[in-house]
Amino acid sequence: MSIFRLTSPLSLFASILSQDCTLCGVRSRASLCKDCHDDLPFRDALGCPRCNAPGSDSQICGACLSDPPHFDETTSAFRYVYPLDRLVQAYKFNANLGLLPLFSDALLRAIRTNNMHAPPDLVIPLPLAPRRLAERGFNQAALLGTRVSRELGLNFETRGMLRIRETPPQAGLNREARLKNVRGAFECVQRLHGRHVAVVDDVMTTGATLSEAAKVLKKAGAAKVSAWVLARAEKYGDAVDAVGAGWETVPFDGVQN
Ligand SMILES: [Zn+2]
Ligand SMILES: [Zn+2]
Repeated sequence: MSIFRLTSPLSLFASILSQDCTLCGVRSRASLCKDCHDDLPFRDALGCPRCNAPGSDSQICGACLSDPPHFDETTSAFRYVYPLDRLVQAYKFNANLGLLPLFSDALLRAIRTNNMHAPPDLVIPLPLAPRRLAERGFNQAALLGTRVSRELGLNFETRGMLRIRETPPQAGLNREARLKNVRGAFECVQRLHGRHVAVVDDVMTTGATLSEAAKVLKKAGAAKVSAWVLARAEKYGDAVDAVGAGWETVPFDGVQN
């Protein structure tokens, strides 16, 4: 309680308003200072409209041509590279929820830029298995989806899809193994006749998880599925490191490489 004796009301108010930048530690009014925020790896190129893989100059990429995912389009706010990977891990595994406004604002901007010519009828988060949800205490995708859909005035359903099977970690698996790993993990109990559904997740690595989710939604009648992801891994090397791919069982206990 000594802070109340030693600090004037004005400086106490100022200290409540400011905090340390998560990345560089300088005083900041937000979770990141302006310099660190401006240096974040925002997506600057459109990439493949279907899976958001970079380098295809807004054309459908070779992977999507030869083996199309079940989702129809992808929007991502960031490249999943340093330091964004560390921030996502801090958000998810250390419950640094102070990062949520930064993340949801960035995703919102990307959606408004790319997608809003055809807004979805319904937004749902990629679900966690009940045990994982109980361990973590929150679904990182649901927190993002809640804020984004509220800002856009769209319907959001936390339980639009269920995870009925817990799956082993995806990290370290290639796309084919990931697809197999995640098969049968989701269930959608509602009828989605002809509706356009957006699925929110934090990180897309190979897209296997979101493709399986989209398959289930289309089986339930969805006409179109959009993937809205905070960050997109750019190559498989990123994906191998992506312990935050929505699947991991590896707890984050510090900086990982
Ligand atoms: Zn900073
Ligand atoms: Zn693609």
